Amino acid sequence: MSRIFDVAVIGGGPAGLAAAVSASENGASVALIERESRLGGILKQCVHDGFGLIRFGQKLAGPEYAERYIELLKNTKTEVFLTTFVTAVKKADFGFSIAIVNKEGISHIDTKTIVLATGCRERTSKQVLIQGTRPSGVFTAGVAQNFVNLLGKMPTKKCVILGSGDIGLIMARRLTLEGAEVEGVYEVKPTPSGLTRNIHQCLFDFNIPLHLSTTVTRVFGEDRLNTVEVAQVDEKMKVVEGTERIIECDALILSVGLIPENEIAETLDVKINNATKGAECDQTYMTSVDGIFSAGNALNVFDLVDYVSESAQSAGASAADYQGTKREYIEIERGKGLLSFVPTRLDILGKLDKVILFFRAARDMDKAKLILKINGEIKLEKKFSYLRPPEMQRLELDLQNYGLDGSSKVLLTLEEGWN
Ligand SMILES: Cc1cc2nc3c(=O)[nH]c(=O)nc-3n(C[C@H](O)[C@H](O)[C@H](O)COP(=O)(O)OP(=O)(O)OC[C@H]3O[C@@H](n4cnc5c(N)ncnc54)[C@H](O)[C@@H]3O)c2cc1C
Repeated sequence: MSRIFDVAVIGGGPAGLAAAVSASENGASVALIERESRLGGILKQCVHDGFGLIRFGQKLAGPEYAERYIELLKNTKTEVFLTTFVTAVKKADFGFSIAIVNKEGISHIDTKTIVLATGCRERTSKQVLIQGTRPSGVFTAGVAQNFVNLLGKMPTKKCVILGSGDIGLIMARRLTLEGAEVEGVYEVKPTPSGLTRNIHQCLFDFNIPLHLSTTVTRVFGEDRLNTVEVAQVDEKMKVVEGTERIIECDALILSVGLIPENEIAETLDVKINNATKGAECDQTYMTSVDGIFSAGNALNVFDLVDYVSESAQSAGASAADYQGTKREYIEIERGKGLLSFVPTRLDILGKLDKVILFFRAARDMDKAKLILKINGEIKLEKKFSYLRPPEMQRLELDLQNYGLDGSSKVLLTLEEGWN
């Protein structure tokens, strides 16, 4: 009979690394499967610093942060499968059978549980509907980052960046440092999508203009992009006529959002949350399918890699502990003021004393208050001086003394204004 792992982790980025280390440290036999030839995920191409302040109390570059976990992994008995692509997962009597493809051909890894740590993917030009021709020179910010930081190639001499997500902001600075001209960053919303510190350190410190409530409406060029048209939008996101402007450039770089990568989860009928676009999960990071856990950006697009590792460490430990014992769920309802949060459900038969809640506000709020109601009664209030949607918040909640049962209604809301 073939070997059955206790835990198989799919994805060898920071989430997969932390999940594998933690599952192993909790006594499980672990397989870590990564489609690329090196571990580290997206961190391999993030050469700037700022990673690890919470986890290691140090400002590390992306590859340095990944290396810390790769070293920890070496101290475990985790079996690592590199250049190995997971193509399908099927339920089996013992748990799950994972179909993999690598240089040896097609085979299977059998496991009792799975941690999905497949990261996220970038929205492309197809998803933001820009009109015009279809020239080369339209890149996502992550692709441009890969060109510059891993391949040593410059994708542009003069570009426009659409979207003020963090990767776009970081690339605005990176391309400027490498000698390109970044004409400006254009954001359709009235507020930036990236972290405030990135707006200052990547744009304002380099005199790169940020144009809010403005978007790219058209691209021009035959083989290669040579011009884009930008225009202001009103509060309904409709183009304000007469504000159109033509900019000559050779590239349009898109930083218009990340979507959790959940193709494998969907084939297993894992329920996907509308707000996070990741799996519905409980406080142990188990999804709606018994034995399948989710962590990192596959679960929820985190702003800090430190939180990616924290969620994955818990998911790995939970997968190692998994015994198939009975669970009973209640959903957490998303009230006004909240964009998204995890966990989205609670197993009321499980541990409720240290529930880690990650959440984002739906809009900029000053003097905000997070309110937790159970059956209509306020049980917990937490004040924040300000909240911004790009900045994820982390809170530890003790929910064990609220007498939660299967009929409890749990509601989270954010309100503005306190004295
Ligand atoms: C393009 C891009 C650039 C980013 N740049 C920054 C930045 O500059 N600064 C910052 O703070 N954050 C950045 N981030 C956010 C960053 O993704 C997270 O902080 C962190 O890397 C997420 O970790 P993860 O392990 O969840 O995902 P990832 O790092 O994306 O790792 C997922 C891993 O899963 C593997 N995988 C996926 N599907 C399969 C499969 N079917 N079979 C086998 N393996 C699979 C992938 O190859 C990858 O190695 C960036 C994200 C993206 C998408």
